[in-house]
Parts: sequence; structure tokens; C-alpha cells
Amino acid sequence: MQDTKEVRYGLLIDYDYCTNCHTCEVACKKELNLPVGQYGIRVLEDGPRQTTTGEWEWTYIPLPTSECNLCEDRVKMGKLPTCVHHCQSGIMEFGPVEELAKKMTKATMVLFSK
Ligand code: SF4
Ligand code: SF4
Repeated sequence: MQDTKEVRYGLLIDYDYCTNCHTCEVACKKELNLPVGQYGIRVLEDGPRQTTTGEWEWTYIPLPTSECNLCEDRVKMGKLPTCVHHCQSGIMEFGPVEELAKKMTKATMVLFSK
């Protein structure tokens, strides 16, 4: 019998290596044609902050917003989402959520889906 379960897609982001270049933000705004002040993805910042063990942390965290549509027009044409395509560090991956979840091997990885 054919499996009719709808496949959900998402973004897997390993923010450990995010450089805060904001290329994903710019590419996304262009793709979604968003006005000033609106974003499909934001790069948030935590730190610099000294942890309880005395180490310093300064982390950039790319966060897709409610405007993100997982680049449905590009994906229909067989292209990758533009944030994935343009990420300077290659830390974003697009695919079926179930497959991406299996690749979540670090605490600094997040999985986004709609
Ligand atoms: S998948 Fe497309 S719409 Fe979503 S954050 Fe990335 S560029 Fe923006
Ligand atoms: S393009 Fe990649 S490295 Fe640059 S801010 Fe976005 S997620 Fe981080």
C-alpha cells in the first residue's frame, strides 16, 4: 500500500559556526520581498557572557520567523531555500524533518519547521 503520509520539511541549523554575517537575512528579505523592519529570519545574539565555569560565550543564533514559508516558490522550482544557498558558513540544511532530526547530534543545533 502506498504511504500517503505528508512529508514535512524544515531547516536544520548548526549555529555553532554562525559568523553573524547576516547574508541569510538579506537573501530572505529579497526572496520574500519584505518591507523595512520585517524579516523571514533574524540573527540573534547571546553574549558576550561569562558562564558559571568562567568561560566566555558569545553566540549568534539564526532564527526563522513566522514570515518564513520555507522558500516554497524556490523549492517548487527544485532550488534550495535562499538562506541555505547563500549561508557563508554552510551551516543550514533543508530537507524532510524526519531526516534532519536524525542529524541533530549537537546541543547547538536547532530544527525549524512549519
Ligand atoms: S527558508 Fe526561505 S523564507 Fe525561510 S528563512 Fe530561509 S530564506 Fe527565509
Ligand atoms: S548566512 Fe549563515 S553564517 Fe551568516 S548569519 Fe546567516 S546563518 Fe549565520
